[in-house]
Formats: sequence, structure tokens, C-alpha cells
Amino acid sequence: MEVFALDTGYFKLDGGAMFGVVPKSLWSRTNPADENNLCTWAMRCLLVVEGNRVVLVDTGIGDKQDSRFFSHYYLHGDDSLQKSLAKIGVIPSDITDVFLTHLHFDHCGGAVRYGSHGQYELSFPNAKYWSNASHWEWATRPNPREKASFLEENIQPLQDLGALHFVDLEHKSLFLGFDVITVDGHTEQQMLPKLRYKDKTLVFMADLLPSVGHIPLPYVMGYDTRPLLTLQEKQAFLEEAARENYVLFLEHDPNYSCCTVKMTDKGVRLDQTFQLDEL
Ligand SMILES: [Zn+2]
Repeated sequence: MEVFALDTGYFKLDGGAMFGVVPKSLWSRTNPADENNLCTWAMRCLLVVEGNRVVLVDTGIGDKQDSRFFSHYYLHGDDSLQKSLAKIGVIPSDITDVFLTHLHFDHCGGAVRYGSHGQYELSFPNAKYWSNASHWEWATRPNPREKASFLEENIQPLQDLGALHFVDLEHKSLFLGFDVITVDGHTEQQMLPKLRYKDKTLVFMADLLPSVGHIPLPYVMGYDTRPLLTLQEKQAFLEEAARENYVLFLEHDPNYSCCTVKMTDKGVRLDQTFQLDEL
């Protein structure tokens, strides 16, 4: 198996929203805010090549929305998904599967693009696109809280273009070369790939743990729909990760693609940070 981190650029989100009940005096130590209280976040994807499958995990924000929408998110950086794929010699038609952890716009926006006549087309024309039935139902009939994160133009074309597939969560083991952990605190049935790579267990953390700044338990995003459940899911996962020495792949950390954690007197804390290609 080969695994590659794919940088797709940075965006900004309100620091308070990203850290929930934790005061700025604490979270700003790891994630400094700008004059508008915004912090910078990566939108980092993962490519997993296993046998004849080339699996892209998440797709970044894409480019379909209008300038007013993007003006809220201050996109910056030189990287894009296409450029990062090109750097490792992969073209969009090589991708066999697109695995979407969940359907918030910063995770799935790059899945669909506008074609030359303004029609929707798949960014990865030969790929099966993977969600799951409960999350799809949740995302396509959104609650008022998450409505602004589930954008119809990112989601509906997957079904209309015949590319949508659902992971069978009862029999999900290794179906794309990796296991899938599901968690419900951030949104309904978020899916986290868990794979074996270089004798380590690597877990794609998506929005269960956006950055190293989110490791202490109370540091839960204000966006989470079930924050108390996130606390339980995070605690159980991080204790296991410390015990088993998992490598955590961080989709949103602005500096590091990977970290490990360790158990301390105060609970689970950051151990080491590094980039995936240093593993
Ligand atoms: Zn999310």
C-alpha cells in the first residue's frame, strides 16, 4: 500500500467556533487568530493506493460557489487538489474511488465541478463515490444547524450522475483496503478510514480531531451537533490511540499532517508532530 498526503490549500474559520466552550486565552496558544478572530486551517486529503484501487479520501472545498461565499473563508495557499495529484503523477481519471468522510463543504466540495457548459460533472470521472445511507439521509434533509454546511450543489449531483455508493457499515472491513470507524458527535455517521501503513496504524481523523490544538478533551468544535457524544468518542479513541501508538492524520491542522498522542496525568496529550512522508 502507498499513501500520500494531498494539500489542497488553506481556509479560515472563526477560532471561537472551532474551539466551542474553550476560551480564546487558551486556544490561541496553539492556533493564533487574525484581527477578525479567524484561524487558518488546512484542507488536507489522503490518497491510498492499494492494488489496482486508487482511493481519494475527501476532496477539499472545490470551486463551485460564488465569490461572496468564498469571501467568508479566505482561501489561500498555492496548493490545489489537482496540483497535488499531478505532483505524484496521478490524473483525475486514475482515481477509482472517492471516499467522503462526511458531506460538509470543506470535505466534499471538490467532488463535483462545473463542466464547460456550466453543467455539473464528476471531478473524478471513473470513480465510485462513497458515503453511507444514514449520513446521506441526514445531509440531504439537513437540520437548520448544519444546513449552511451541506450545499446541494456539492451533494445532489453525485446521485444524479450515478456515482453515489453507500458503504455497508455492517460489513465495512477493508472494503477499500482499510477499516472504517464511524462517529456521530460531529455529524451523523462520519466515517474515518483506519489503515495499516509502514507497520503503523494510521487513522484519518477528519472532524473528530481537526488539529493538534483539539487534543485536550474539552476542545470540541462549536459546530458539532452532539458535543457530549464527541467528548465520549474522542476520549475513547484518543486513549486507544495513545495505548496502540496510532498515527493520526490531521485534515485541518495548518502545520502538520500527522501526530501521535501519549497518556499523561492530565489525560491524553500531544506526543510528536511530523509530516506523513517522514513516517
Ligand atoms: Zn465537518
